[in-house]
Amino acid sequence: SKPIVAVVGRPNVGKSTFFNLLTGTKKAIVEDTPGVTRDRIYAETDWNGREFAVIDTGGIEARTDDIILSQMREQAEVAMDMADVIVFMVDGKEGLTAADEEVAGMLRRTGKKIILLVNKVDKANQLPDTFYDFYNLGIGEPIPISSANRTNVGDVLDDIVASF
Ligand code: GDP
Ligand code: MG
Repeated sequence: SKPIVAVVGRPNVGKSTFFNLLTGTKKAIVEDTPGVTRDRIYAETDWNGREFAVIDTGGIEARTDDIILSQMREQAEVAMDMADVIVFMVDGKEGLTAADEEVAGMLRRTGKKIILLVNKVDKANQLPDTFYDFYNLGIGEPIPISSANRTNVGDVLDDIVASF
């Protein structure tokens, strides 16, 4: 079966925008699994002929209470179970948060390939001052992207398919 890329991160960082960018013109498949029926969260796509599936974990509802951290723990669990590659997305406008650190800690322990995307860096030649804080997550080099204007997205896709 096709490699699975899971997009994880706290609400509003741009996961769905990125997901739609990767899969928007492709046929969506709705997973027949409890908890993942709410949104269009699973789709298959390809990059340079390499086929893969993408999961937008933001569409997964927590079984417990609706607070951000439990939601994110649940998303991270799904990503850790199912994904071949985890895209961990953070918000370059807001900078590093405690919730980012919490999830990074869970993801680090998986041993899976993790790509750290700093979204909303809309001016590629102008990194925000807080950009370097993301190195502290301990999951490798942060990659600046803008899902809104597609900056750097092609390079990220090269990196993703190279890691299957
Ligand atoms: P999600 O909750 O992580 O799925 O985030 P969404 O994809 O719904 O995006 C949250 C908000 O951020 C929306 O208003 C998007 O238009 C905005 N957004 C997403 N990507 C970018 C980006 O690269 N730059 C900027 N400036 N805004 C973005
Ligand atoms: Mg979303």
